[in-house]
Amino acid sequence: PPKRFQDTSESVWVEYVALALKHKPKVNLGQGFPDYAPPHYVTEALSEVSHGNHLLNQYTRGFGHPRLVQAIAKLYSHLIGREINPNTEVLVTVGAYQSLYSAITGHVDDGDEVIIIEPFYDCYYDQIKSAGGVVRSIALKPTKSGVLSAADWKLDPVEFEKLFNEKTKAIILNTPHNPLGKVFKLDELEMIADLCKKWNVLVISDEVYEHMVFEPAKHIRINTLPGMWERTITIGSAGKTFSVTGWKLGWSYGPANLLRNLQLVHQNAVYTCATPLQEATAMAFEFELTRLNSSESFFKSLAVELTDKRDYMAKFLTETGFQVTLPEAGYFMIADWSHNADKVDLSSESDEFKDYRFTKWMTKNISLQGIPPSAFYTKPNKHLGENYIRFCYIKNDETLHDAAKILKDWY
Ligand code: PMP
Ligand code: GLN
Repeated sequence: PPKRFQDTSESVWVEYVALALKHKPKVNLGQGFPDYAPPHYVTEALSEVSHGNHLLNQYTRGFGHPRLVQAIAKLYSHLIGREINPNTEVLVTVGAYQSLYSAITGHVDDGDEVIIIEPFYDCYYDQIKSAGGVVRSIALKPTKSGVLSAADWKLDPVEFEKLFNEKTKAIILNTPHNPLGKVFKLDELEMIADLCKKWNVLVISDEVYEHMVFEPAKHIRINTLPGMWERTITIGSAGKTFSVTGWKLGWSYGPANLLRNLQLVHQNAVYTCATPLQEATAMAFEFELTRLNSSESFFKSLAVELTDKRDYMAKFLTETGFQVTLPEAGYFMIADWSHNADKVDLSSESDEFKDYRFTKWMTKNISLQGIPPSAFYTKPNKHLGENYIRFCYIKNDETLHDAAKILKDWY
């Protein structure tokens, strides 16, 4: 491969999706996706589209299908209290992945420094490197022991400030956070925002779990803080928002001058995304816009449903010797498995990091799959993830019961 990809190896997703295909674990709580149907009206919209106006099977506007960019602009104008221009301030992409890629590739030049917060969604690292950027990172750390909430994982403000300098181009923020389920609080966001303003730094804010936030946590969009709209690109995902991860449709929104650079990458990489998926996503947004604050809102009902699933998982993991960090949002939970280390013989696995050995052992020996969190750390910090495993809980109750049973039989 060219030099800019020489540091890149197979991602945890490539490896663990292959692992699941090979061993067919009875319960797969690895890669994040629901194992139950999306809302009926969402799939209904797609089938209506494919049988309706035949032109919806043809190319549409490159930077986003008109009906969809209008719906996205309308929703976020409401949520952030600022009028968003659908044509210049929104870009529709192939999943949040391609928004991240376009934001990073469109803004990061050779030698520019980009700050990421560990654990981080793994592709940030490789995307920064392939753009020629230099990764600077800092780890969130639990600030107490025993029973933990994701809110207890914090940045050290002194260490954090030291990362900023005149070469800092951007920071990637992820709130709600994968894999911790942390929702950054106002004071945390203000600390980040103040440093970004001081050093003239761009914020790429990955908010794909924005609607799955559990009471009493509140999602705050950093682009709503004073002076931050001007320097923030915010990223969302239809896959996460409507439980249709296979649609791989996402978006970025932010000021036109910043979005312009993403559009340049996009026009040369894919030019335009699938029209039927965009039309159906627009229909889904339009419907949700009519019931945003009611209890019927899918965004609200999904968060309630996930709160129960989270609590159920936290209970069975705790009962089987894991120490969980209770998420405030999203659909992942990390759990410390080190107290169960004496119950496994990992000598048959050869991976460098213990969490890889443990998760592979689990898939092969007790037919339950999770994800090794060291994948979400830079090399010098991978040891910080080694005692953990990440489980996904946006699953049927029966699936979660099966997982509980597997662990109880083993424990
Ligand atoms: N960011 C985060 C934090 C994620 O967890 C994911 C996984 N869905 C993505 C981005 C990518 O989203 P998409 O599937 O829309 O590309
Ligand atoms: N975001 C999902 C996860 O974290 C899916 C990852 C992927 O497909 N690359 O599990």
